Amino acid sequence: MSAIVFNNISFDDHEQISFVSEPKSRLRAIVAVHNSQRGPAMGGCRMWNYSSETQALNDVLRLSRGMTYKNAVAGLPIGGGKCVIMGDPQQDKSPAIFEALGEAIERMGGLYITAEDVGTTPDDMAHVSKQTQYVAGLGPNGDPSPYTALGCFVGARAAIKHHLHRDSFEGLTVAVQGLGNVGYDYARRLHKAGAKLIVADIDVNALERARNELNAKIVSVDAIYDVDADIYAPCALGGTVNAGTLARLKVKIIAGGANNQLATSEMNSLARQKGILYVPDFVINAGGIMKACYEYFNKAESEVEDRVLKIENTLLGIFELADQKSSETSFIAEEIARASLKN
Ligand code: NAD
Repeated sequence: MSAIVFNNISFDDHEQISFVSEPKSRLRAIVAVHNSQRGPAMGGCRMWNYSSETQALNDVLRLSRGMTYKNAVAGLPIGGGKCVIMGDPQQDKSPAIFEALGEAIERMGGLYITAEDVGTTPDDMAHVSKQTQYVAGLGPNGDPSPYTALGCFVGARAAIKHHLHRDSFEGLTVAVQGLGNVGYDYARRLHKAGAKLIVADIDVNALERARNELNAKIVSVDAIYDVDADIYAPCALGGTVNAGTLARLKVKIIAGGANNQLATSEMNSLARQKGILYVPDFVINAGGIMKACYEYFNKAESEVEDRVLKIENTLLGIFELADQKSSETSFIAEEIARASLKN
């Protein structure tokens, strides 16, 4: 086992990795706590049909490390962790699986706090909460995505201020990839602020809705990289900022809600060389974890919004520093996170 874990390319001195198995419910999960210096490690529970244990392990190691950075730059009193359940969210879900996961999380005694993520919902978290108190994102207001979208909107505003010297989206065009929970709400805010929208999704209903409600122009999933726009907003998949797409993108800013947008860390340099300002994903999309964290610690809803709005100033600071140091925005953001962990 040690050969797989400690020599794994994504292993980054994670504090604790727990492999969870519960045969009755057929739960197979991995919980990774990357760093708990700032507080209990918080991060969502992903359910995915992984092709192998190695793939699941890589994912949880990488995602939990990302949560440490995200939570640190967001200034939240929590560390970074993540959980992955190996299984098909369309077929393998049951209340028992989530209750068994709740038991395992409870055994960790508060070192890790879970929440919904890709493949899981607030309803699933309700089953988790039958067995543990260490869970966030519950109830009818448990969906974090409106806050993620708000963070994206103010983050994009920071980017146009800094890079385009503009205070308003009026007359700007944004290419939105993915009109799901985050992408649609972000697009709605951009439309309200005067931006023109070009959108792509695999869901025809979402596209129709965007055409009718937001006057959006629809393009194919592949054509979104070629459109004439000022901002590219990836809100669907990871890895869409790569050498191939950067060669095609005509935008001046990349600002979207998707996780892990850069295919490799070098892509930020490549974007910079092309005069594109890359807004680090783990800073701009932190609204959701802010909501989960504040809800968990029983803070008022108004405080969540105030916290999310601060993403704008955090990003303005990162852009300034990146200019001063002739450095990449993602590198500066990671440096800020690392500095806050030294104690
Ligand atoms: P979602 O599943 O609601 O939406 C994703 C959308 O992308 C769907 O409409 C889907 O049809 C579309 N899509 C899938 N493949 C596509 C493709 N090839 N081209 C264009 N569109 C495609 O998910 P979400 O909650 O909106 O999250 C979107 C992204 O933001 C994910 O990367 C997620 O990890 C990240 N994120 C979400 C939150 C949150 O609060 N929900 C927080 C942080 C990060």
